[in-house]
Amino acid sequence: MSGKSTAAKNKSLDDPLQFIKGVGPKRAELLKKINLETVSDALFYLPFRYEDRTQVKKITELVPGEMVSFLGKVVDAGAIRIGRRRKIFEALVQDDSGFVRVKWFQFNEAYMTEKIKAGRKLIFSGKATHNKRGGGLEVIHPNTEIQSDESSESLEIGRIVPVYHSTEGLHLKSLRTIMKNVVDDYKNLVDEFLPEKIIRRYKFPTRSKALQRAHFPPSDASTKLLEKFQDPSQARLIFEEFFLLQLTLAFKKRHQEVEERGQPFKTRGETIRKFLKLLKFDLTQAQKRVLGEIMSYLERNEPMNLLLQGDVGSGKTVVALIALLTGVDNDCQTALMAPTELLAEQHFLSIHPFCEALNITIALVTSSGTANEKSLIHSSIAKGTTQIIVGTHALIQKKIEFSKLGLIVVDEQHRFGVLQRDALSRKGLTPHVLIMTATPIPRSLALTLYGDMNVSFLDEFPPGRIPIETKLFYEDARNTAYTLLEKEIKEGRQAYVVCPLIEESESIDLKAAIDVSDELQTKRLPNFKTQLIHGKLKKEERQKIMAEFKNGGIDVLVATTVIEVGIDVPNATVMLIEHAERFGLAQLHQLRGRVGRGKYASKCLLISSHALTDDGKARLNAIVKSRDGFSIAEEDLRIRGPGDFTGTRQSGIPLLRAGNLLRDIKLLELSRREAFDLVEKDPQLEAPEHIKLKDALHHTFGNQANLMKVI
Ligand code: ADP
Ligand code: MG
Repeated sequence: MSGKSTAAKNKSLDDPLQFIKGVGPKRAELLKKINLETVSDALFYLPFRYEDRTQVKKITELVPGEMVSFLGKVVDAGAIRIGRRRKIFEALVQDDSGFVRVKWFQFNEAYMTEKIKAGRKLIFSGKATHNKRGGGLEVIHPNTEIQSDESSESLEIGRIVPVYHSTEGLHLKSLRTIMKNVVDDYKNLVDEFLPEKIIRRYKFPTRSKALQRAHFPPSDASTKLLEKFQDPSQARLIFEEFFLLQLTLAFKKRHQEVEERGQPFKTRGETIRKFLKLLKFDLTQAQKRVLGEIMSYLERNEPMNLLLQGDVGSGKTVVALIALLTGVDNDCQTALMAPTELLAEQHFLSIHPFCEALNITIALVTSSGTANEKSLIHSSIAKGTTQIIVGTHALIQKKIEFSKLGLIVVDEQHRFGVLQRDALSRKGLTPHVLIMTATPIPRSLALTLYGDMNVSFLDEFPPGRIPIETKLFYEDARNTAYTLLEKEIKEGRQAYVVCPLIEESESIDLKAAIDVSDELQTKRLPNFKTQLIHGKLKKEERQKIMAEFKNGGIDVLVATTVIEVGIDVPNATVMLIEHAERFGLAQLHQLRGRVGRGKYASKCLLISSHALTDDGKARLNAIVKSRDGFSIAEEDLRIRGPGDFTGTRQSGIPLLRAGNLLRDIKLLELSRREAFDLVEKDPQLEAPEHIKLKDALHHTFGNQANLMKVI
């Protein structure tokens, strides 16, 4: 490349990687596959593992059990057949001190034959062991790197070596060299932005030192700490990432509290008193406590922004309804939003009788109905004659005009949406917001996804619940599961059978559900009524089926996942789930919550195919063993990771480069405390020592302007 010196003058962290020494157009394409396009991307692409190759030994110095590296030349190598089916790959390796045998029991023959060739010099890292048959020392499954003739020696051996996630066609060794060039050339361009106080308090290295060390740790660093991501360099980089994120949440929360004017409500009014009289039961202590918390938020000048976590069946609906009625009591409109139309309908049906008794107008907004019907509803909402509006999350996105929206309840159930408060404030609305979720949110996620909200817990079940017994059956024992179901039906109980339905294979899945339903109706339970329900049915038809099931006119409801939330039929005592392995844990837990709602002991029967991965087995066992939604959620998060766990891309989980929500919960909490503290003390980030921090925030989140307009 010509003009290297001019390029050097204008170096920037936004430089494309293509022009870094050792890259070029072809490798740049490969790097893109792992989302590395600029220097900055690469700098913050940290190793996920490290190999301690500080101990370089001669072959004759190998000691059994000790992790070492050695340099050797392959004398002979190849796959050898042992026994009838198995093969091993074996190589004889030599250095100037002696010979050692190296073996692989699992290998890709083509790859190994190409890599481990006679005459080639390689670096081996691993542990020597005694050959079981007494043939001296050998090394099993070492990591190997081709030793090139260049001076790259120092990157591969005699040090702690970083291991990155790479991609096909890009050798780890090349990636390492690229990283080394990037770090060496650019680390000094990385600006410090953490306030000095924080750096001193936690004895953090500077940003550039941290980057250098996290990528290429000195030999005296502890591989143990590095592997746990607890080396000071890693801790610092993780902290700063979380810190920026938590700052945005702290600003958001503060902004809502200080800037947004809500309408303070008078609570515990006449309507509430009447409603409580209509209720057939007493509120649980937890319901009373949570309601107390809600009331105290509603009485304030700033809008309530509350997340209510309560397991399935803990009685959130009553709490929601009391909140809605409080709004009505204050001459406001209130809205209840559910994730699906079906669930919105359910809510509407269960709330409607109370509204009738209390002389309150309520409307259900759905996509069905004639244009005329819809416009009637819309105009009555705009005029303010409708007091409670029930619909899906689309309520606030659509062009619905409210007359005076004072409070919104969002029933998230098992989804992790982040309410678009922006969408509300664009409409000039600052209602009180209550978000309810039945999926216990692991703390780390709550702190990031809902980090700007207050949180309440409904941690007690209404009295008289008998715990649900959960059993797992593999395919060949499905008959036993269905026999258990039959027994309950014959005793007068009702059952749900749930079949998975995913969009990609919708027609096949639906066919399977139909088969299950037919078999029950014609063969197993001919004298009872089985009914299939799925999302393709018309709304009226679904409503009819639901009502019939609730009245006991249907004995077995075979459903695709549409029933997963919201239904309340105390006489239903069996929940049988086909292909349980295809559901998320949180979803299974949710589904299971449909039974065990009455005075009868209830069962949840999971049927799974045999072809389960270890993770799959671990997941289903977690649901069998545990009834506690929180531990199930933690387990699910641990097994699946945040992205899959929440099930959606738009779940609002930030992309983290260094941090990991599961692993780094301590740093997350620490960063949160520091961030909220700082915003409290310097709400505009005006202090000179915070200028760089403010820049960093703008740089990182600049395009999310709404968030940043506060500072
Ligand atoms: P979820 O939190 O899953 O939405 P629900 O609000 O549907 O739970 O309540 C589950 C069931 O418990 C419903 O049948 C409801 O009527 C009943 N329930 C709620 N609160 C109480 C209570 N305090 N005492 C007795 N039953 C209650
Ligand atoms: Mg509910």
